[in-house]
Amino acid sequence: MWTIEEGTERIRNRGLKITSQRVGILKLLKNRKDHPSAEQIFREMKQSFPTISFATIYSTSQILQEAGLLQILTIDGQRVFFDPDPAPHAHYRCRKCGSVSDIPMPHGIIKKIRESSDDEIETVHVYCYGKCRHCSASEEAEAAGVRHGNSC
Ligand SMILES: [Zn+2]
Ligand SMILES: [Zn+2]
Repeated sequence: MWTIEEGTERIRNRGLKITSQRVGILKLLKNRKDHPSAEQIFREMKQSFPTISFATIYSTSQILQEAGLLQILTIDGQRVFFDPDPAPHAHYRCRKCGSVSDIPMPHGIIKKIRESSDDEIETVHVYCYGKCRHCSASEEAEAAGVRHGNSC
């Protein structure tokens, strides 16, 4: 994971200005594991920057992605999620609670995908969907509770 210093350095290296808003977004995203949505980051940024627009959040996230500081996940189809870990890994989206979590990818799989095409592959996104272990567990507990209730 990058540091704020590395982050600002990489933005500067792309010939872009370091604004307090850009640094603010870097600080919010650094070390996050929860894959916040763009809307969530917008709400959080508004607390420090009340006049910030959603368009700024979006354009800044594009800059951070180009600088290799962020992955923009389109796992949802309607909303985008931010992941400050630029290393390749797969993502899991729970259809029930909507959580987005990381799945490690088998070693060498990105290389294999790259080798399987004559076209240049810049990024690889792997999205998995289903019902997460927490939702499955709470459904099972609920079902068990119903069974228990019936037997009493
Ligand atoms: Zn879930
Ligand atoms: Zn991730």
